[in-house]
Amino acid sequence: MSEKPRILIDVDDVIVKNAFLAAFNKFKHTSYKEEDFTEYYFIKEILNERGKAKFAKYILKHDIYENCELMENAEGVMSVLSGLLDIYIASTCVFIGAERTSGVLFERKFNFLMKRFPFLDPNKVILTGIKNCFTGFKYQIDDRLENLHSDIPYKFLFTRNPNKDIGKETLKKYNVIRVDNWIEALDKILRIEFGKKEEKKHENV
Ligand SMILES: [Mg+2]
Repeated sequence: MSEKPRILIDVDDVIVKNAFLAAFNKFKHTSYKEEDFTEYYFIKEILNERGKAKFAKYILKHDIYENCELMENAEGVMSVLSGLLDIYIASTCVFIGAERTSGVLFERKFNFLMKRFPFLDPNKVILTGIKNCFTGFKYQIDDRLENLHSDIPYKFLFTRNPNKDIGKETLKKYNVIRVDNWIEALDKILRIEFGKKEEKKHENV
């Protein structure tokens, strides 16, 4: 059994950047940007029920992870972290509106992770529909506050447009640390692992 501290890392909008939005722009021939939406499930801001069903069909038909854009420095920092921490992936693969036919999304995401991140252990990829039920980790990184588990000591909220207005008070209440990018996440983890004692205390820095 590995003695390295465990970290649980989200995929969409933490490792991968705007894959669903890029797919939507191809689907609709539009050029929306992340800043145009405030919801995680952005399509509900612009599509009616029929449109959502059509987009779900499109998502099932096309591999949105093939040639997807990665978050800046995700690959390099995760590679560094793999020497220091025991990396687990936790990612949702159940698409809203296609819940019972989402199997292909599990396969594509797993294949993408294995291809792009050869240092990941295939046994430590958790593909799921609900992420806030995993404990036993020292660190967790996700872009949704509700996915961060209260039992995990160091919880990082990865800044994206839908969470940017969550204030310091709320983060403090849930004992969550905001990180704007992977370099900042690495810096905070290194400080916790190797920093002075007082920096190991929980604080919203
Ligand atoms: Mg995410």
